[in-house]
Amino acid sequence: MFDYKAAFGNAVDQVRAEGRYRVFADLKRVRGQFPRAVWRRDDGTEQDVVVWCSNDYLGMGQHPEVLTAMQAEIDSVGAGAGGTRNISGTTRSAVDLEAELAAWHHKEAALLFTSGYVANEATLTTLQRIMPGLIIFSDSLNHASMIAGIRNGGCERHIYQHNDLEHLEALLAAAPADAPKLIAFESVYSMDGDIADLAGTIALAKKYGALTYLDEVHAVGLYGDAGAGIAERDGVLDQIDIIECTLGKAIGVMGGYIAADALIIDAVRSWAAGFIFTTSLPPALTAGALASVRHLKAHPELRAAHQARAQALKERFLAAGIPVMPSESHIVPVHVGNPVHCKMISDMLLEEHGIYVQPINYPTVPKGTERLRFTPSPNHDDGMMDALVTAMDKLWTHCNVARLPAVA
Ligand code: PMP
Repeated sequence: MFDYKAAFGNAVDQVRAEGRYRVFADLKRVRGQFPRAVWRRDDGTEQDVVVWCSNDYLGMGQHPEVLTAMQAEIDSVGAGAGGTRNISGTTRSAVDLEAELAAWHHKEAALLFTSGYVANEATLTTLQRIMPGLIIFSDSLNHASMIAGIRNGGCERHIYQHNDLEHLEALLAAAPADAPKLIAFESVYSMDGDIADLAGTIALAKKYGALTYLDEVHAVGLYGDAGAGIAERDGVLDQIDIIECTLGKAIGVMGGYIAADALIIDAVRSWAAGFIFTTSLPPALTAGALASVRHLKAHPELRAAHQARAQALKERFLAAGIPVMPSESHIVPVHVGNPVHCKMISDMLLEEHGIYVQPINYPTVPKGTERLRFTPSPNHDDGMMDALVTAMDKLWTHCNVARLPAVA
């Protein structure tokens, strides 16, 4: 008979052999104390830590307005949504949140999903069913959820080199002029922190008759006067056809959505299995996200403080010769260049300095570019930054990792 134990064992062994076996840090966030948390070791002992790799970029997951809205919703409405959107699960706060999100992105409509992953996977699969013969052009660094959606639909697809519009144009030009086409890309790329050329991509889409699908997961709440993302910052909100986002990062809660013309939303709503056949988000989550979005819209100073922190951290690292990679955004990637040192530095930061930053190794990033990815927030104070830079400086010497030439 089939050896099930061996199959599972082999699966784990393979991941270990490839150096991809993941160990999760067990963290308890502390209400009102972001970015502080309590880390529990395997032996059950605990240590206070400062988290430097949270995607709750602005600490909204701890914001009093968000927590109050969530608690009030639980008190007045209860816990679960009670069903799929179609069958009794269309809650008041979900409807209000969709309206708020649509207005934020200057779109006619928005549609909520269980997560950003599901929004990408379900929408990209569904667009292929709605438009048979669709050809998708996908940036080579697109997130796994976009890749999954593109693959699941089985359409013809072309991967263009990351942020390389010349390559994209060559691929577009080679496709039949009358075929439906879609360019799928991100605004802020999460591991390098670089930002796509939205206007250039839109110009190509217009020239070759393609739709644009933009993942703003690492930009929403953080860029643009009202925080609607890079498309707002660059003044092109009305020219992106479908914007996809998460409620789980800068918004601080959980869930995902797309925003687009009402007709596009109506079609996706009617066809996407990942939207139709699943229980909708708990009302407390959508109420919390609604409070968060309203707060983010009204508080551009949060975005300014966030950018200032990121800039200050980059400068502090560079002054110490710590090799910050050339990020154009709030993401501060530091190049280590090998998986062993990357993990060692991360472990020592946690155990010896109470600083938590996850190592980013292959296959999340290419071999030889292993890195630590820091995400400073407005809540990281000067003392935390001093402690981080001092610890990094010490560990860089301890592990003999390359510094920047100017300082070495
Ligand atoms: N897109 C990108 C670019 C992401 O980084 C992520 C999450 N890491 C997602 C989509 C998925 O979002 P969520 O976490 O809400 O599922």
